[in-house]
Amino acid sequence: MSLREHDRDIFEAIEAEHQRQLGTLELIASENFVSQDVLDAMGSVLTNKYAEGYPGKRYYGGCEHVDVVERLAIDRVTKLFGAAYANVQPHSGAQANTAVFFSLLQPGDTFMGMNLSHGGHLTHGSPVSLSGKWFNVVAYGVREEDHLIDYDEVEAVARRERPKVIIAGGSAYARTIDFARFREIADQIGAKLMVDMAHIAGLVAADVHPSPVPHAHVVTSTTHKTLRGPRGGIILTNDEEIAKGVNKAIFPGIQGGPLMHIIAAKAVAFREALEPDFRQYAEQVVKNAKALADTLLEEGARLVSGGTDNHLILLDTRVFGLTGKEAEHLLEEAGITANKNTIPFDPESPFVTSGIRIGTAAATTRGMKEDEMKTIGRSIAAVLKGKGDPSVRSVISQLCSAYPLYQRVQQVR
Ligand code: PLP
Repeated sequence: MSLREHDRDIFEAIEAEHQRQLGTLELIASENFVSQDVLDAMGSVLTNKYAEGYPGKRYYGGCEHVDVVERLAIDRVTKLFGAAYANVQPHSGAQANTAVFFSLLQPGDTFMGMNLSHGGHLTHGSPVSLSGKWFNVVAYGVREEDHLIDYDEVEAVARRERPKVIIAGGSAYARTIDFARFREIADQIGAKLMVDMAHIAGLVAADVHPSPVPHAHVVTSTTHKTLRGPRGGIILTNDEEIAKGVNKAIFPGIQGGPLMHIIAAKAVAFREALEPDFRQYAEQVVKNAKALADTLLEEGARLVSGGTDNHLILLDTRVFGLTGKEAEHLLEEAGITANKNTIPFDPESPFVTSGIRIGTAAATTRGMKEDEMKTIGRSIAAVLKGKGDPSVRSVISQLCSAYPLYQRVQQVR
C-alpha cells in the first residue's frame, strides 16, 4: 500500500511538484537535484531513530547502526574538504551558523558580516534574524565601481570595531573570495574567521574554487546547493577546541535529536562528491555560468560585477525597465524559475529589488552544457526585453524534455 492510496492530497501535491521540477527550468542558484541514492537514504527507516549525542556517546539505546552512518558521514566530509573535525548534525545552514555564534560569542558581542544587500546572508547579521538581534553587527560591502568585496574597507572596519568573529561568504556574490586576505585581517585584531561556504561548497569540494578550510578557524555550509546533497548543514574546523565548542553548541545547545535519515543522505552525497565525475560536474557548472553570463552580456544585459567566477550571476533588471519582482514573474510565466534579489546599492526594497539571481547548478545536473546556456541566455533576454515572450515557454519545455530527471521514479509511478 502506498501514499497514493492513503493520502491522496499529499501524494498529489508531491506529484505536482515532481512535474513542475521536470517541466520547468530551475535556475535558482541555491537549488539542485539530488541523486536517486540520496532520495532513497532520506526516505529510509532512519527517520524513526532518536540518537541525541554523538557516535559512541548517545543518550538513547539501539544506536549501533546510526553510529556507523554518522561516522561514515564525518569521515567522508573531512576527507572531501581536508578538515580535521566535522559536525554533520546541523538541520540547516542557519542552524550551523547559529551554533558557531553560540560557541564563539556571547550575546551583545560584536561580529562582522557582509551587508545583506551586497550579497551576504540573513544569518550574517540581518536585524530580522537571531544573528542581528542577539549580537552587535558591523557590516562590510562591495565597492560601488566594480561590485567586488572592498578588502581595504573590511580591514578598516575590523580595526575600528574589533569584532570577535569575521564572516566571509554570502548568498549572491559571483566572484572568487580571497580567504587568505580575510584571515590576515582577522589575525590583525585577534578575531576568529568563520567562512560560510554554503553556495560554493560543491565548487570547493571539486577544487574549482579555492578552499576556505586552510584559512578559516571554522567553516559552515549547507549541503543542498552546489554540493548536491539533502537539505542540511555542516560545520568543519581544524581546531580541536573549536570542534568541542561547536559540538556542544549543536547538541545540547540549539538542537535535540539529529535527523539520522538526513545524515545518511549527507554521507551518500559526500561519497558522490568524492568521485571524479563530481569534479567534471562542478567544472561544468562554472563553464555554464560563464557561457550564460557571456550570452546575457551579448544580449545587452548588465551583470553585477560584470560577470561571474562561480555558479551564480546577479543580473541588474533596470536596463530592461523592470524590477526584480517583475522579472521573476515574467520568467516564471516562461517556465524559468529564478529569484528576485537585491543588488548592491539597490534603490528598491528587498521585496521588490532591482535584480535577478541565476545559478547553473541544477541545470548542469540535468546534463545541460554551454550550447543550452546560450539558448537559455537568449530566452531570458527575450522575456525581459519583450516584457514577456509567449514563444519562450515551448523552447524551455523542449529543453526540459531533452534532459529528463528521476527516470526511475517516473517508471515506478
Ligand atoms: N548561508 C548561506 C550563505 C546561504 O546562502 C544560506 C541559504 O540560502 C544559508 C546560510 C541558510 O541555509 P538554510 O536555508 O539551510 O538554513
